[in-house]
Amino acid sequence: MDQRLETIKKSIRDIEDFPKPGIVFKDITTLLNDAQAYKALMEHLYDRYKGYELDFIAGIDARGFIFGAALANMLGVGFVPVRKKGKLPSTTISQKYSLEYGYDEVEIHLDAFRRKKNAQVLLIDDLIATGGTAKAAVDLINKTEALCVECCFIINLEALGGTDKLEAPVYSVLKV
Ligand code: AMP
Repeated sequence: MDQRLETIKKSIRDIEDFPKPGIVFKDITTLLNDAQAYKALMEHLYDRYKGYELDFIAGIDARGFIFGAALANMLGVGFVPVRKKGKLPSTTISQKYSLEYGYDEVEIHLDAFRRKKNAQVLLIDDLIATGGTAKAAVDLINKTEALCVECCFIINLEALGGTDKLEAPVYSVLKV
């Protein structure tokens, strides 16, 4: 593993039994407050995506905003937040997805990609587990005239097979 990835990996903290017993929560706040690790991650993402013809980055509520918005700014493209239901003020489209019990819903503004016809969109989140959230976000982007060209995660919990649910190509910085 290259030095930069090693620095990123070491900066992420495991919190056992959060938010409930049996879950190991990957805490990226320790990455964010380590300036060297955060910079290494953003440079790694910039190097990967600088050659892509992207029009927008869409980030998933809430940790996807942190990486997505920073990367959008570095690449000189727009940022679109994929939010939990009820947070966006203008007209939205939404997509439901199943949870262990019940369902949740993500939304984007109907006109989020209006600045570019057939916009090419990179979706980003901190982590993929079962893949339900990311699949809903990809479906949401593709319901508009935009196209999700890749999904990017800082961490892929590989054993859960979440990436199998996604129709778009996937890139994960770290596989755990
Ligand atoms: P999923 O829909 O199961 O792929 O869950 C992905 C979403 O839940 C992401 O937005 C993650 O931030 C969060 N998440 C799920 N499992 C974990 C975990 N073990 N550690 C940190 N975040 C998690």
